[in-house]
Amino acid sequence: MSPVRRRRKIDGGDRIEEGVSKMGECLFCGIVEEKIRGEIVYRDNSIVAFKDINPKAPVHILIVPAKHISTLLDLQEEDKEIVGEIFAVANRLAEQQGISKDGYRVVANCGAGAGQTVFHIHFHLLGGRNFSWPPG
Ligand code: AMP
Ligand code: ZN
Repeated sequence: MSPVRRRRKIDGGDRIEEGVSKMGECLFCGIVEEKIRGEIVYRDNSIVAFKDINPKAPVHILIVPAKHISTLLDLQEEDKEIVGEIFAVANRLAEQQGISKDGYRVVANCGAGAGQTVFHIHFHLLGGRNFSWPPG
């Protein structure tokens, strides 16, 4: 029997509750596949970047692998290259967005305790203001 699927709204997007998610229903897979609208600013075969719907800084872009990976803990040996490429894309976007000189932050939350709300890994590229440390 197929599992019951429950949805709840988080940050304007659908999140499938833990234990009942299916890749086909992942919010960020939906944006990658253009089934869900996103403001895409970069795309290649393995990486997609789009504007965060609820920006925490003047520049707030999410960089995701096109392939579904739930959390950083799920990264495999074969994903090493993608992670390297994501940082190269972050640098390029930071330059394009004019935030590279003053400094920018790349953040990835792993797990609910760290604040991860969408379970398709994503790297937040934040810039355009000063950031404090440590983060909240
Ligand atoms: P995290 O809390 O690290 O999992 O980050 C999830 C991010 O996804 C948050 O910053 C949200 O604002 C953002 N977000 C949620 N739904 C969407 C959406 N439909 N399009 C773009 N960004 C989104
Ligand atoms: Zn996904």
